[in-house]
Amino acid sequence: MRAKNDSVDLDALCPELSRLAPLIDCCYSAFECLAIVTATTNGHHMKGSLHYRGLAMDLRVKNLGAVPRQRSLHSCLKRNIDAMYPGLYDTLLEDPGGEHAHIHCEASPTLLAQIDHGVVPA
Ligand SMILES: [Zn+2]
Repeated sequence: MRAKNDSVDLDALCPELSRLAPLIDCCYSAFECLAIVTATTNGHHMKGSLHYRGLAMDLRVKNLGAVPRQRSLHSCLKRNIDAMYPGLYDTLLEDPGGEHAHIHCEASPTLLAQIDHGVVPA
C-alpha cells in the first residue's frame, strides 16, 4: 500500500486502519495492481468525516480498468476484511465508473465504540 503522492500521509492513519494494509495489498495483488491510497486525513470530505480522525482511507480503483473489475476488487476486499474483522469496517465502492471512483474504507460504528472505550485492537 503506498500513497499517491506527498499530500497523502499514511502515518496519519490510526492503527485500526493501517492494520488493513496486508489484506488490501493481497487483494490488489490478486488483480495485478498496486494499492494506491489517495486520501487519509488530506483532501475535502464531509464535515465530521472519519477521514479527519485517521479512521478512514480512500483507495484508487481507476488502475483496475473497467467497472466490473472495480466491483470485483471491491467485493474481494470487502469479503476479506469482513472475514478477518467481522462488523468492524465499512468498505464502499463510491461512484463506480465515474471520474471520482474510489473505495472508501472506514471504521464501523462498532469499531468506533471500541476505540472510544479504549479497547486495544486485536
Ligand atoms: Zn473517503
